[in-house]
Amino acid sequence: MSGKDVYKCTVCGYLYDESKESIPFIQLPQTWVCPICGVSKSEFCQVKIPASSKLGIPSKQNLKNIVIVGSGFAGTNLAMEIVAKSADSQITLVTKDKEWFYSRPLLTRAFYDGELKKNMYISRLSDLANEQLKIRAATQVTKLDPLLKNLTLENNGQVTNLAYDKLILATGSDAFIPPSLRAFKEYFKTLNNLENYAELLDIKNQQKLRLAIIGGGLIGCELASEFNKMRDEVDLFHITHRLIENVLSEEKSQKLAGVFKQIGVNLHLDHSVKEIKKTKHGYQIDSVDRFFDVVLVAAGFIPRTELARQSGIICNRGIVVNEYMETSIKDIYAVGDVAEIQNKTYAFLPPIHDQINWLSDFFAGKGNGSFVQKDYPVKVKIHDFEI
Ligand SMILES: Cc1cc2nc3c(=O)[nH]c(=O)nc-3n(C[C@H](O)[C@H](O)[C@H](O)COP(=O)(O)OP(=O)(O)OC[C@H]3O[C@@H](n4cnc5c(N)ncnc54)[C@H](O)[C@@H]3O)c2cc1C
Repeated sequence: MSGKDVYKCTVCGYLYDESKESIPFIQLPQTWVCPICGVSKSEFCQVKIPASSKLGIPSKQNLKNIVIVGSGFAGTNLAMEIVAKSADSQITLVTKDKEWFYSRPLLTRAFYDGELKKNMYISRLSDLANEQLKIRAATQVTKLDPLLKNLTLENNGQVTNLAYDKLILATGSDAFIPPSLRAFKEYFKTLNNLENYAELLDIKNQQKLRLAIIGGGLIGCELASEFNKMRDEVDLFHITHRLIENVLSEEKSQKLAGVFKQIGVNLHLDHSVKEIKKTKHGYQIDSVDRFFDVVLVAAGFIPRTELARQSGIICNRGIVVNEYMETSIKDIYAVGDVAEIQNKTYAFLPPIHDQINWLSDFFAGKGNGSFVQKDYPVKVKIHDFEI
């Protein structure tokens, strides 16, 4: 097969293309990490890109006016793939985000490691624009009218309209807040986007923290490890008797708990938090005799479906799409954390990478049958404990 060799991140699909970089992959230092998901060099494998996957493939679809809502991993990468595969496409990317296309997976890991902090900012949104791709940043889509094929946009108090031929909803997900904690929303923080990160970093930079994390899933455990590395006092509250129970075996959960105990993370397992109090000594959780400067809730994610729901698109937990990634309304598609495929939502990068590849091929008229979501193992390292 003709084509060129590149190095592919087996976790998120990022391609290191030596022809566009100044350093051959092999010469990258061992400390180098994937700029998108932060895993090490050893997670990359060499792959060949077929010569046919380059610019200028004639498209069979009308791609003259595609609007993508959302500039996360799904929306931005999809826009770039459509541009690369369909020279006749014209895309407008509308996003609430103000300035940056950034790596969300690095949000949990970019406190301790200065290099990761830099890597987290992938590109200014304005730098992504080109002849085929317009970017409308700091702009919220407030209404979708599928009959008129029209979006209502709001930017800085100014309301405008935007028509589309094809619409792709890549509106992502919010942090899930368990109902029992919603009454205390003034007292806790979440870490779901760049603004949350900046706020937490700011607090962290001012003091050594006494930190309570509610949620012992992947993100909660990553955060516990990260703040422990910075010598902060960390307490981790988890509702079941073992950590990351959705991914880890009982044995591995026990091992991870052992690692945490050894490094001084205080575990509160089988603890369903009922109350957060503000006292003069700091925040208190239930009647635990400890006080905290910051309480962080890391209890999972919830797809952002409001826009789709209010316009009549069928949603369950996520926006329901068919085997062509199309929603219940023609010419409206959904990808990323917000999409529900065969009754499942997928909030991590490898499945989203597949969705992007498939949909951009499909739009380019290169579709190869319908989309089938593969399952991926979750790969994560917490405090050098490999999962
Ligand atoms: C802290 C954290 C750590 C993670 N770690 C990992 C990891 O290690 N490995 C992994 O594979 N995955 C990880 N994930 C999950 C991964 O980051 C997500 O699956 C992925 O980023 C989702 O991308 P997305 O584009 O679908 O959604 P998002 O990143 O949520 O992007 C949604 C976009 O839509 C925009 N938007 C939403 N509504 C509107 C509107 N009405 N108008 C305009 N714009 C709108 C938002 O501003 C945003 O730009 C992590 C997630 C978090 C939060």
